[in-house]
Amino acid sequence: PAEPAKAKVLKAGADAAFAPFEFQDEKTKEYTGFDIDLIKAIGKQMGVEVEVQNINFDGLIPALEAGNIDVLISGMTITEERTKKVNFSKPYYRSGLSMVVKSDNNTLKSFKDLEGKNIAVQIGTTGANEAKKIKDAKVREFNNAPEAFMELKAGGVDAVVNDLPVNEYYIAKTGSKDAKIVGEPLNAEEYGIATAKKNTELAEKINKALEELKKNGEYEKIYMKWFGKKP
Ligand code: GLN
Repeated sequence: PAEPAKAKVLKAGADAAFAPFEFQDEKTKEYTGFDIDLIKAIGKQMGVEVEVQNINFDGLIPALEAGNIDVLISGMTITEERTKKVNFSKPYYRSGLSMVVKSDNNTLKSFKDLEGKNIAVQIGTTGANEAKKIKDAKVREFNNAPEAFMELKAGGVDAVVNDLPVNEYYIAKTGSKDAKIVGEPLNAEEYGIATAKKNTELAEKINKALEELKKNGEYEKIYMKWFGKKP
């Protein structure tokens, strides 16, 4: 008798410390979040099983280049520099950078107030790049966003520069009373799903699946689940 065909596996990399996009559920220990639901739905659409690997943000593109993962989805902003190394899907989420300060801080109100200040960021991110452009700012890089927030809480820095939806989730969902978002977002950014340069076939399949999920309402369902509003 013929052997049953084995389900193909799509290895997806994410830095699972970036709620609500990718994080570890405290109870089940499973990786969860908007990105995780989205890549699983994309996998289902493609008829493959998705296996999520937790990799530090600055190690994600190298892991893709080395072929250790097939795809990466990690709240990653589509940038010109990254586009030289990987293929990005069509944008799947509109984001932007914002700043977080301690609740009792009444002097830092916008990005221009960050000149000469101590700022915590996540290593290898657009937030890190932008913070470094601020005049005389001392930028300290952490492995992930929660560590940057912890440093703010501990009083080691004046502000955290990080993606707005993640800042909002941190403050709302973790019930953090000691931090607040101030000012307008610095910019607009778009997240993309990345694949290796040479794997153009996979990039096409992902775009197709994403388009399908947008048409059939599945994308909106996932968006509603995590953000409580329509995309
Ligand atoms: N969107 C930001 C970037 O791409 C941060 C992503 C992240 O920390 N997961 O650099």
